[in-house]
Amino acid sequence: MNQRELFLRHVAQTSPAPLALEIVKAEGCSLYDAAGKTYIDGIGGISVANTGHRHPHVLAAIHAQLDAYLHIMVYGEFVETPQVRYATLLTQHLPASLNAVYFTNSGAEAVEGAMKLAKRATGRTQIIAFDQSYHGSTQGALSIMGDEYWRNAYRPLLPDILHLTYNAWPSLDAITSRTACVVMETVQAEAGILVPDKAWLQALRQKCTDTGTLLILDEIQAGFGRTGTLWGFEQMGIVPDIILLGKALGGGMPLGAFIADKKIMDLFTVNPVLGHITTFGGHPVSCAAGLAAMELLLDNAGNCSPLIKDVKEKEALFLSKLKHPLIREVRSFGLWMAVEFASFEINKKIIDSCITKGLLTDWFLFAPNCLRLSPPLSISLSEVEQVTDIIITTCNEYDSGIF
Ligand code: PMP
Repeated sequence: MNQRELFLRHVAQTSPAPLALEIVKAEGCSLYDAAGKTYIDGIGGISVANTGHRHPHVLAAIHAQLDAYLHIMVYGEFVETPQVRYATLLTQHLPASLNAVYFTNSGAEAVEGAMKLAKRATGRTQIIAFDQSYHGSTQGALSIMGDEYWRNAYRPLLPDILHLTYNAWPSLDAITSRTACVVMETVQAEAGILVPDKAWLQALRQKCTDTGTLLILDEIQAGFGRTGTLWGFEQMGIVPDIILLGKALGGGMPLGAFIADKKIMDLFTVNPVLGHITTFGGHPVSCAAGLAAMELLLDNAGNCSPLIKDVKEKEALFLSKLKHPLIREVRSFGLWMAVEFASFEINKKIIDSCITKGLLTDWFLFAPNCLRLSPPLSISLSEVEQVTDIIITTCNEYDSGIF
């Protein structure tokens, strides 16, 4: 049996039709498969590879940590330098109230920890989330997922969850002094890059403050320069009470985090002690890799490096090139784009044909008619042109009935 057949037989599957590309090497914006074919990575592992695949600075940090130690003790007991250095850098680049980092293994675990923390901090039980949101697949994160089709098969889920319409003013009335927290994405990713009105987000922030509700912003896809600033919320003029990070946080290694004020984070240490624990959260190799990746996003003065500063120029080039009668709309927020077609069937044909031409893209969970673009931020202008040329050529082929 070849590798693909063994993959289908022995590796648990998540859909009846996985892409099943057999990648043997990744570097920068390129993926190389077992047959020697090269692909431009148009999605960066879904917003993970922000600094490009296997950046030498990240690899050097991983190698150095391998020579020091791997896992040595459950999270929170030992002074582990990679965690300390990374938590320090992260909090230096966040508002003063976000000063204590809890490292997890994944994004979903960060969601779980943050929801528990909000219950402790407020003594309340109601959690508000939004339709078309995705926060992870564990049972707590699934409970706040914004679509009944995905939730229903796994009921009973967490009680006292209320789903509201995103970016809709009447939703704000539902946030009351009974609400422990509002969990939301700064920009809804899987809905196909839905950017909320700044005024609505600011009013939501105010409503949370007025009712003593914690605002938990999920920046698991939005963080680390994806939007053209280090954090997406910077462009919205708000500060969350808790921020959720993942994906690019680990520089290609598994890592998640929720970050809050130490005053509330310390609630996990008492009544009961060990209120939230994890064996591998904040793995030293993951923290070393993530720290190195974040260093690449900053210059020597601690400001955004060109990887972030150039996002808007690259986004503008994408938008100027992605024009075709088949494309109904392109929604974007930085190097984070949804190219909308009339149907999933058209989108799927375009995606499949792009893959045969050496461009890897994907669709969105709640917007199957939209093609996803979230390339490494290190993508060059000429690679942007290659990506858009392939998409436009494929649209022309579709129009002329070639496939
Ligand atoms: N929140 C958002 C916005 C995500 O995109 C994801 C992952 N796609 C998660 C949470 C969950 O992260 P993980 O897969 O690491 O559990």
